[in-house]
Amino acid sequence: MNIARSIHVKGIVQGVGFRPFVFRQAQANGLNGWVANTEEGVDIFLEGSEDRLEAFIQQLDSGHPPAACITSVEVRSAERVGFERFSILESLRKDRITARISPDLAVCDDCLGELFDPADHRYRYPYINCTNCGPRYSILRQLPYDRPNTTMQAWSMDEFCGREYHDVSNRRFHAQPIACPACGPSYFLEIGDAVREISDASIQNAAGLLRQGKIVAVKGLGGYHLACDAANSVAVKSLRERKYRKEKPFAIMTKDLEHARLIVDLTAESEELLCSSARPIVLATAKAPSSEIAPDNSELGVMLPYTPLHHLLFASGAPDVLVMTSGNRSSEPIAYEDDEARRTLNGIADALLIGERPIARRVDDSVVRAGAFGRVVLRSARGLSPSAVAKLPTRRPILAVGADLKNTITLVVDGQAFVSQHIGDLEHHESLLAFEQTIQDLLSTYGIRLEDALVVHDSHPQYASTAFVQSRVSNAVAVQHHRAHIASVLAERECFTQRVLGVAFDGTGFGDDGAIWGGEIFCGSLTEGFNRLAHLRPAWLPGGDAAAHYPVQSAAGFLNQMEGLPNLIEPPFDFPILYARATQMVNKRVRTFASSSMGRLFDAAAALLGFTRQSTFEGQAAAWLEFRARGVASAEPYPFPSQGRELDFRPLLRAIIDDRLRHRDLGEIARAFHAGIACCLCDAIKNWCASEHVDAVVLSGGVFQNELLLSDLKHLLDSEPLQVWTNHAVPPNDGGISLGQAALATFQNTGALAISQQPLRSEA
Ligand code: ZN
Ligand code: FE
Repeated sequence: MNIARSIHVKGIVQGVGFRPFVFRQAQANGLNGWVANTEEGVDIFLEGSEDRLEAFIQQLDSGHPPAACITSVEVRSAERVGFERFSILESLRKDRITARISPDLAVCDDCLGELFDPADHRYRYPYINCTNCGPRYSILRQLPYDRPNTTMQAWSMDEFCGREYHDVSNRRFHAQPIACPACGPSYFLEIGDAVREISDASIQNAAGLLRQGKIVAVKGLGGYHLACDAANSVAVKSLRERKYRKEKPFAIMTKDLEHARLIVDLTAESEELLCSSARPIVLATAKAPSSEIAPDNSELGVMLPYTPLHHLLFASGAPDVLVMTSGNRSSEPIAYEDDEARRTLNGIADALLIGERPIARRVDDSVVRAGAFGRVVLRSARGLSPSAVAKLPTRRPILAVGADLKNTITLVVDGQAFVSQHIGDLEHHESLLAFEQTIQDLLSTYGIRLEDALVVHDSHPQYASTAFVQSRVSNAVAVQHHRAHIASVLAERECFTQRVLGVAFDGTGFGDDGAIWGGEIFCGSLTEGFNRLAHLRPAWLPGGDAAAHYPVQSAAGFLNQMEGLPNLIEPPFDFPILYARATQMVNKRVRTFASSSMGRLFDAAAALLGFTRQSTFEGQAAAWLEFRARGVASAEPYPFPSQGRELDFRPLLRAIIDDRLRHRDLGEIARAFHAGIACCLCDAIKNWCASEHVDAVVLSGGVFQNELLLSDLKHLLDSEPLQVWTNHAVPPNDGGISLGQAALATFQNTGALAISQQPLRSEA
């Protein structure tokens, strides 16, 4: 007897070949009805025999396309209509869109096979793709994901592509960006104003220019890259000079996995990340540190080709290892529009390899690492974002605008927390525009009005993100920065009520008492909020947040509390005169703030070891210190005692100074410093967990990007009966703040929690 079922599937089910898959399964089981994309996922209506329907539902789960990710399947019985066949309906619009957008995917093996098959219609066609691969989010203008809503709207498919698009047995059935050399966009090369070459010749010539040591701007999925031969030091040097990028590491792209293995040490976990369909930049230990590509850094950021164009470039003779850095000047956002690229990359790139398909939105490369506690995302963007990373128990939409550095936005719709791609540092005008655009983008994509959302921001009164919220919303909620860091880990794990010990070791963040926090130990849960139990002994930080640029400025603040110091202007310290000026600022309390920032303690230590110049990118001094320490296998930890609620840094810095005066090896000093931090934290964790009766520890904040510190902690904590939780989906740095804000606001909103505003001392 025939029955009918209405099935509702949620998850990443649009733009990943899901409807064709449903169509084929329905046909194979002799079922009639229809399938359609809705704004909430995919709806299926089926009629047929009960056992066939059962079989179909089982296959939904086990046999779906590789890029799809199902989060829920609802099956209801329905009235029979009497369909005579199975069909794919046009998309249905409903009130609200919660269907997840698929991030962009690397080109698949089937498409690569065709790309290099001379007999194939799409032989060497740089825009080849299918339902299992290719662009998604970076070409999407609005949901639902259908061709007219993408940047492929300007090209109408020809008969050849049309036949594949409508053929349910074809790999390109309903592949929205389907294209071929006859009907689709192509690439062209611009050298100055004069030379313009199109299609295959442009790629051949771009590869030739790279071989000659030229710098070529290459349009990728989410923006322009600047590429040059990584083995050509003249080219790499001139890229640094032209881009005004003094010392920040460049990412590299290798021809294939074999070439990546020659350059970095890859674990099985790193290789898995490197080859995943997100194709992120993977940080791994360099076989031979490169002073040109990543100065004073033990790691290199490596990625594999992910667009057909990248594969064509390598196949056309481009050098096997390319520097591939974001196409921008200094730290501005990556260029993604052609005119913008011509304007901003003029004078940097010798030529531009421009693809005709527009990019709907800027999406940087993602950066990840296989770390001691599992996957760490340092930057979540192409291939990873946007995605629903957590479910929060709230019906009301929540918009969380993150922090000012490494900004991301989180929008919670029907309890699903969508975290945006990395936007950047809001001190740049361009980033601020991107910030506002991303908010608009998310709100309109999901059909949420700003006035209906609970809006959350950082409690820092001087953040641009705070100012943005306050200029538009009257009843916004402020969340303290470091509680948001801890909350981000718990949100990822959907762990709402369990009490944990939360360690936030971070650069800077605005504390409850107006001081600059960043070395905080909390206890609590998402539902009850977090109490500050202990913290780094406060120092005076001259210049406040700006001290992050000058490690000696931090040193002046920390050392101010210590007696009997040697003259640090003299060898072996050789501090610049800035140190004396900063010390005067501290003594007179001019623009000087109390700070418990662990990030600044790393800076002070780096200064004592010789990093006395200006830091040219965030976290540079700490990376420099870690690089020195990694050269030494182990060292006796420096003393870093807990005194009541304070972690006292004075014995630690004293030990560094004494060892410097004794001319101890710099690597050993750096190693003993790291070991000291890890030991102190481990003891504090054990003590506080015992006294608070908790057995789970959360580690978050920018300092935990330090892999040496994490592996030391892993070593020390492994034998303890404690669970240690770190971020896996969002970054431990400020890229994770927006998710944490949304999570804390969820519980404040439901009345379960008043976000703890514990009064605090600000003595230093
Ligand atoms: Zn494909
Ligand atoms: Fe932070």
